[in-house]
Amino acid sequence: MKIDLHAHSHVSDGTQTPAVLVAAAKNAGLDVLALTDHDSTSGWAEASLAAREQGIVLVPGMEISCKTREGISVHLLSYLHDPFNEDLLEEITKSKDARLSRAERMVERLAEDYPLNWDDVTQHVAPGATVGRPHIADALVAAGVVEDRSEAFASILTSHSRYFVSHYAPDPVLAVQLVRAAGGVPVFAHPVASARGRVVAEATFNDMIDAGLLGLEIDHRDNPEEGRAWLRKLAARKDLIVTGSSDYHGAGKPNLLGENLTSPEALARIEALGTGTAVVR
Ligand code: AMP
Ligand code: FE
Ligand code: ZN
Ligand code: FE
Repeated sequence: MKIDLHAHSHVSDGTQTPAVLVAAAKNAGLDVLALTDHDSTSGWAEASLAAREQGIVLVPGMEISCKTREGISVHLLSYLHDPFNEDLLEEITKSKDARLSRAERMVERLAEDYPLNWDDVTQHVAPGATVGRPHIADALVAAGVVEDRSEAFASILTSHSRYFVSHYAPDPVLAVQLVRAAGGVPVFAHPVASARGRVVAEATFNDMIDAGLLGLEIDHRDNPEEGRAWLRKLAARKDLIVTGSSDYHGAGKPNLLGENLTSPEALARIEALGTGTAVVR
């Protein structure tokens, strides 16, 4: 069984439609794919339909951007939550709106030095999609400023860049509580991805676990080896679900579908604990 529980479509910053993503997963030999767009479940319907057609199992999911009081970025995966839960919806809508005005402000700053305007960016955003730095990167690629998204993130778009603007995002403890209240299974995404920026201290892991965190995404290319060993001990001590995934973004990132996998036992625990929506078979 090949199970990959973290992938993005153009509903956020992936480059494929949900249906094309599902077909790509089938092509890559996956048996199970989770669709986890940033702060959005808009791709679930199309992906579910495609999954049934293609004969692949779909786990409806989402990746929630969070920020601690110290300003450290945390990504929380949610599986099988109720997509209509009002408290959770209200929170992700707040983030999505904040992301939009933040992207506009970043483009204003960038426009002072580069041939770039807001229209150039929106051309790379699917209607209603969650806007992020990757879409700004796409516009910079189209303008010939950088070669690809990776180059943009390594230079102009890093969080240390003078063009960077931060945006509202919920505290991870609140996000865990909201996901649980919506019947979802919260899993901490790439928890020790130090190359992306500062990672949280053990106290934050404990706060999230006390709030109802159920799993850790350990096998992910952005988690360094030492960090993974530490995470495995933590997972064993707290009886957390362990997942492994690609974080595929289509052509937007080098990550390949199935490059990391989750065990059938871990998926069974997620399915047993998630009560907000069903796995699509
Ligand atoms: P944002 O949420 O708008 O601040 O942008 C962060 C998003 O950019 C994450 O969801 C990543 O998927 C994406 N990202 C981060 N680093 C890179 C990179 N080096 N290449 C491509 N995409 C990246
Ligand atoms: Fe992303
Ligand atoms: Zn992430
Ligand atoms: Fe992701």
